[in-house]
Amino acid sequence: MPGAGGWAPGRWSVRVLALVIALGVLGTVLAAVALRRADDDRARRALGQQTMIVSQVVSAEVRRYSTSLTDLAAAVGAQANLEAAEYTAIAASVDRQRLPGASGVAFVVAATTDEMPAVQKSWRDRGDPQLTFTPSSAPTDEHFFVVLYRGVEGGPSPLGLDVADKPEAVEAMQRAKASHRVATSSTYRLLTDSELPVERQQLSFVLAAPVYSTSPSASDTGQFRGWLMMGLRGGDFLKQAIGVVARDTVAVTLYDTASTAGPTPVASWVPDARLQPEPPPRDITVSVPQRTWRLVVEPTHKLLPVGDMHLDVAAWIIGAVLTGLLAALTGTVITARNRALRKVDDATAALRDDIVRREAVEQQLRQREAELVGFAGIVAHDLRSPLARITGYADFLREEAAPRLDPLHRDFLERLYGGAQRMQTLIDDLLDYATAENRTLHTSRVDLRAMADDITRERLTGTEAHPPTIVIEDLPTVDGDPTLLCQVLDNLIGNALKYTAPGEEPYVRVSCRTTDGMARIEVADHGIGIPADQRDTVFTAFARAPGSAGYPGTGLGLAIVHRIVERHGGEVGVDANPGGGSLFWFTVPHAAALTPSVTAPSS
Ligand code: ADP
Repeated sequence: MPGAGGWAPGRWSVRVLALVIALGVLGTVLAAVALRRADDDRARRALGQQTMIVSQVVSAEVRRYSTSLTDLAAAVGAQANLEAAEYTAIAASVDRQRLPGASGVAFVVAATTDEMPAVQKSWRDRGDPQLTFTPSSAPTDEHFFVVLYRGVEGGPSPLGLDVADKPEAVEAMQRAKASHRVATSSTYRLLTDSELPVERQQLSFVLAAPVYSTSPSASDTGQFRGWLMMGLRGGDFLKQAIGVVARDTVAVTLYDTASTAGPTPVASWVPDARLQPEPPPRDITVSVPQRTWRLVVEPTHKLLPVGDMHLDVAAWIIGAVLTGLLAALTGTVITARNRALRKVDDATAALRDDIVRREAVEQQLRQREAELVGFAGIVAHDLRSPLARITGYADFLREEAAPRLDPLHRDFLERLYGGAQRMQTLIDDLLDYATAENRTLHTSRVDLRAMADDITRERLTGTEAHPPTIVIEDLPTVDGDPTLLCQVLDNLIGNALKYTAPGEEPYVRVSCRTTDGMARIEVADHGIGIPADQRDTVFTAFARAPGSAGYPGTGLGLAIVHRIVERHGGEVGVDANPGGGSLFWFTVPHAAALTPSVTAPSS
């Protein structure tokens, strides 16, 4: 019952709705977590791949620069008498090699302060008569002047400048000379860039290759001549070296790990994309000639093809939409269901009210009927003795005074006597009908066969001229009130004899069939029969079928039969007799081990 503690449609609906939403949220969270994990795994793998590619490209590119510079140094060393024109011709190969980020290739020679004028003169003679050494302002006696220069991008020429101003370059030159191999400097700003605006200056490094004279015809064969220095702008180098392979999926920063000032950024490549904190940046080392760099690769939001939108975010959105739709659908179903339940409740309540009203009306009707029957019984009983006197006097007059009466008065007397007799029958039937309801049942074992034989004998009395045919078959012994059961059998046999068409010989057959502990007694005739639509109504008091107009009767006989059979716990009915006429039947309990008993009416 709604609101009566346990089950209530409202509370139930809220629970179902909450369950649907909870399931939706749970499913969304699980899907989002799973997708997030898959996303993270994919991003980590993608970042690892990009890091490998970038590191390989960086070290391969620097090796290529180093090889180019070694080849140039060998070519310069092979010149018997190195002059500006030859140097320009040799260094022209740098243009062809496409070395991104390279500013130019300079030939640098060492000179002490004392040697400076002679060295300057010597190189003026070999090419540029304007060559003027500009010694470093640093308090040093060792100078390193740029005497030949081949620029890659145009830009200012460093001819005559003293590299001693850049200790990073000097350190790389000394290492190169000592090892006879190319060396990489740590990061600094190139001499050639010092003229540029600050915003265009960028961190750079140089590759220094030692030049030894290898020409057999030269006067200095086998001697150290100086250095070839290639300046590389870190930003340009990184952009062109890895921009193509990394595209905008990662940002790359190169650190010089050997710098005395701690890890110093050599260069960085930051694409036009947002940096992401996840997955964490990769940090690996890259070897360049005589130096180790650290490479830090950070992911951008374009690392995964889905771009900005993570799959877990999509899962959240889709999950939220689906949960909303599911909740709306469930809400609609629940509302419709609750509406239907309310209608059923209303209809049930209306039905219950209707039943209560009907029961009250039936109760009233039963009470009225009981009062009516009681009234009819009292009236019938009280009418009995005056009627007996009327009948008695009328009978006396018929016998004693009839010969003295004229025919008209004799006819009046006969009519008076007939009416009194009919009234007598009606009163008897009324009394039987009234008492059948309330009379106490005196149950005993009843031999129906003997009872039917007695009734037959009685019925045949006075019909010797045209005796009807009454066939009594084997009938059982049953439990019941003998007086009332006799009334039932007599009524049915009497009707069977009475409702035969004039001129026909009455035929009655009484038989029995046994069903489930009940005896079914059948009384069949070949009489006028009862129309199918009247077969139920003939058991109602005072009801008579249309064909019975010419036959005497009160319409109470079958009503009395119905009451008596009902009080014995049986049923009564009428069917068409297969051979023509009617077949009345009633059921009554088979005889059990007999204990005579008295049964009061139920109410
Ligand atoms: P009644 O005093 O009129 O015979 P009953 O209650 O015995 O009253 O019967 C009710 C009606 O049932 C009768 O009026 C008659 O129309 C019909 N009826 C009863 N028995 C038979 C029968 N054996 N054959 C045909 N009609 C019958």
